[in-house]
Amino acid sequence: MKKNVLILGAGFAGLELTTRLSASLADEVHVTLIDQNDSFVFGFSKLDIMLGRRSSDEVRLYYKDIAKDAVDFHQERITSIDPVERRVGTEQGSYEADMLAVALGADYDPAATPGFVEDGFEYYSVAGAERLRDTLPTFDSGALLIAVLGEPYKCPPAPFEGAFLLHDYLTVRGVRQETSIRVSGPMEAPVPIAKEVSQPILQGMIERGIEFMPRSRVIGLDTKVRVAELEGGERVPYDLFIGVPIHRVPAVVEASGLAVDGWVPVDKRNLMTRFPNVYALGDVASAPVAKAGVFAESAARAVAEDIAARLHGTGPSAPFDGAGNCYIEFGGQLVGKVEANFLSGPKPTGRLLGPSREFAREKELFTSSRRERWFTG
Ligand SMILES: Cc1cc2nc3c(=O)[nH]c(=O)nc-3n(C[C@H](O)[C@H](O)[C@H](O)COP(=O)(O)OP(=O)(O)OC[C@H]3O[C@@H](n4cnc5c(N)ncnc54)[C@H](O)[C@@H]3O)c2cc1C
Repeated sequence: MKKNVLILGAGFAGLELTTRLSASLADEVHVTLIDQNDSFVFGFSKLDIMLGRRSSDEVRLYYKDIAKDAVDFHQERITSIDPVERRVGTEQGSYEADMLAVALGADYDPAATPGFVEDGFEYYSVAGAERLRDTLPTFDSGALLIAVLGEPYKCPPAPFEGAFLLHDYLTVRGVRQETSIRVSGPMEAPVPIAKEVSQPILQGMIERGIEFMPRSRVIGLDTKVRVAELEGGERVPYDLFIGVPIHRVPAVVEASGLAVDGWVPVDKRNLMTRFPNVYALGDVASAPVAKAGVFAESAARAVAEDIAARLHGTGPSAPFDGAGNCYIEFGGQLVGKVEANFLSGPKPTGRLLGPSREFAREKELFTSSRRERWFTG
């Protein structure tokens, strides 16, 4: 009798876990994958949308195209999760699972920063990136402030990537001289994992005349005079405000009792929650790694191996290594590669290679290989 594995969320983590279970355990498990959307969009594709390089239709990967053994996809909004009974409710019905994997990612809470909804922009959602794309052509002069509004947040290099790409965008439009670009946030350094990652980013900012404001968290906007208010009381004027919104677990996860102090605690070796046979992986978990697709993917590998080890009674599988490589665009078609490892050594390590055109090609390959792996049988 096949075991029922229910995977909640078809993002980086859910798609990778589905792919691995279908590839290695199709005779032993049946996978039901549920997501509220009809398609997946890579986080970095939102930068393409913001810049008008690609439309949202062009970057969508439709779940109806998933063709995998022992996998069903259901487009439904999840409304309840009972981790004790492993029972899940949706707007259409309910599901029970032998093994439950919660991979519902992180939601945004723009209203938590006063003034942001009224006078701010963001490129962390498809709708936000589209709205910004339509506004950018009207920005000809003045101060652009990109502000990280709270930690943790997805893809630590993404605010800096946005700054580099907007520098290029304004340069091409011939208005860069009339504008200033600043990036602010609560963090000490752009990507605090290691100075070997932050230093080249800081250098790239200096070369492009972009200012970094460390330990500077914007707590609200005075929209009448267009001033951002910092935690320490300072006031920073802006003409265009782009925020990385405060992140939270989705409301359905909060209501389930799975989250503690904001995120879902897990055993860092195999991503199991405190509830038997309930895993949490990707951005929703408080695993000690950055919130990024590559770590969601390596977490999925650890969960797939743990499920296989339990089914076969072979003893513990190799622990989650918290390792992954991701890419950061520097503009001018140059891409840097961040190699990070959060769990293998006594402390996290990281370095940034490039930027180069070779890594730009590698990033394209990264994208096309996932499209191929996740959607075809
Ligand atoms: C601008 C930007 C750039 C980025 N660049 C990179 C990068 O270069 N490299 C990298 O590794 N990462 C990058 N990231 C981060 C990456 O996108 C996320 O960390 C990754 O998607 C997390 O995977 P996940 O599976 O945990 O969550 P997600 O991919 O967010 O998936 C969660 C899924 O759960 C679904 N869901 C949520 N609630 C419900 C519900 N109630 N019912 C049904 N479904 C629900 C959502 O629809 C979603 O499909 C970037 C992110 C952004 C915003």
